[in-house]
Amino acid sequence: MPDDEYMLFCCNDVEHPCEFRVQAKTKEETMEHAKAHMAMEHGMEEIPKETERKMEESIKPVKVKE
Ligand SMILES: [Zn+2]
Repeated sequence: MPDDEYMLFCCNDVEHPCEFRVQAKTKEETMEHAKAHMAMEHGMEEIPKETERKMEESIKPVKVKE
């Protein structure tokens, strides 16, 4: 079995002291979850461009062993 690769987002990497983490198969999907979290937990209905850029930069690939 080859290792699976996921795109991981840790909210704490952006600007909030926050334990939220999400991983998904694609960066786009991870961003969707991350944005939903920002809206719900941090009151960001509209994500500022600068924050969105930081979020995208903080997403990193992780290997998950099956
Ligand atoms: Zn958060």
